[in-house]
Amino acid sequence: MKSKVDWEEALSRCVRCGRCRSVCPTFSLLHREWAVARGRVVLVEALGEGRLEPTQRLEDHLSTCLLCMACEEVCTNKAPVVGLVEEARVLLVQERGKPLYKRILGKVLEDKALANKLVALGLLSRPLWGREVPQYRGLALRMAFFEGWDMVPPLAKPFSREGPQDWGKAEKGTVALFLGCLLDFVYPSMAWATVETLVGLGYRVVMPPDQGCCGHPHRAMGDREGAERLKELNVRTLEESGASMVVTACATCTAYLKEVYPLSIPVKDVVEVMLEAGEGAFQYRLGKKATYHEPCHLGRGQEVRGLITFLQGILGEGLVEMEGYNRCCGFGGSLALAYPQISLGVGEMKARSVRETGASAVLTACPACILQINRCLARAGVEAQAFHLVEAVEVIDR
Ligand code: SF4
Ligand code: SF4
Repeated sequence: MKSKVDWEEALSRCVRCGRCRSVCPTFSLLHREWAVARGRVVLVEALGEGRLEPTQRLEDHLSTCLLCMACEEVCTNKAPVVGLVEEARVLLVQERGKPLYKRILGKVLEDKALANKLVALGLLSRPLWGREVPQYRGLALRMAFFEGWDMVPPLAKPFSREGPQDWGKAEKGTVALFLGCLLDFVYPSMAWATVETLVGLGYRVVMPPDQGCCGHPHRAMGDREGAERLKELNVRTLEESGASMVVTACATCTAYLKEVYPLSIPVKDVVEVMLEAGEGAFQYRLGKKATYHEPCHLGRGQEVRGLITFLQGILGEGLVEMEGYNRCCGFGGSLALAYPQISLGVGEMKARSVRETGASAVLTACPACILQINRCLARAGVEAQAFHLVEAVEVIDR
């Protein structure tokens, strides 16, 4: 895979104005210059020029960027901060090798059989790791990794092991469903709701076999080769599906597929398909006051917006707007595992915003956001739950 950015040109775009400080979630939490785009660009530049050694400290500073793109959105000079941080992570892997957690996560996400076994083992043993560790115990720090993961839904059969995997009639065409890891292993019910939505809207849905992780986690961890291998695998299986469109229900997968996959058929997020169908095609099925969280990879990553108006059309006054609705939830992929306190700290801000709305449902379009928001709501004692849009609304039978 070629470099995502022209290094020199990209670095020169940052004029150190500091505008990004007003929107960067990690800066809001940590108030440190290394935790904001401006500081991170300075670090990336120094690393590239050999003025800074690739130390653990530097790795921590660059690994704690959420890649949320909020800085890029407000940057008048259009500094490609995310691309620079990702390139720096590749350099760090080349210089320092992969830390253990990146090696394990990368391997698990690339090997579906292994992932199946580990998910089963992890969920079966949840009574052990799902337990709260009192803060006054020394264990709390070491166990920070495990905090709140008891919000992971109960063990279910991975969606990709269900059959048959061909649903509906092709009134409007055939779509290939790209699952992504979270829908497959953690939220198979969300995958079913996606199929139900697409079939209800008149599509035949097929699930191409042998698809794997989209590869975004690998790229975000600086593993260019792993990302490339997964891209090749998925492009092959999606092209062979015979579908006229690829649809995913994970905003991160969709954004990544759109950006890097050389496919001959278009890729759409399931919420784009829903927006095209219009609000009149749906009815709300949760019966709870709701608010909307915009995933970074949906709004900023794909520029798919207009969901608030769409949901207002369906829920009417049942939808309340949230302050900072498009602020990152703090998941950040492997960051949630390696730097849980930062991930949870940013997530706490989201939980506070949800609490202020008084809503008991948070509607969104990304399984990773759902995992993180539910985890943070539970920790903050907010009585609300996050749902994917495909779970919250249903197609009206006509
Ligand atoms: S990244 Fe953009 S907004 Fe931030 S300091 Fe640089 S030029 Fe300013
Ligand atoms: S991508 Fe997000 S977390 Fe990273 S520097 Fe930009 S605003 Fe901060």
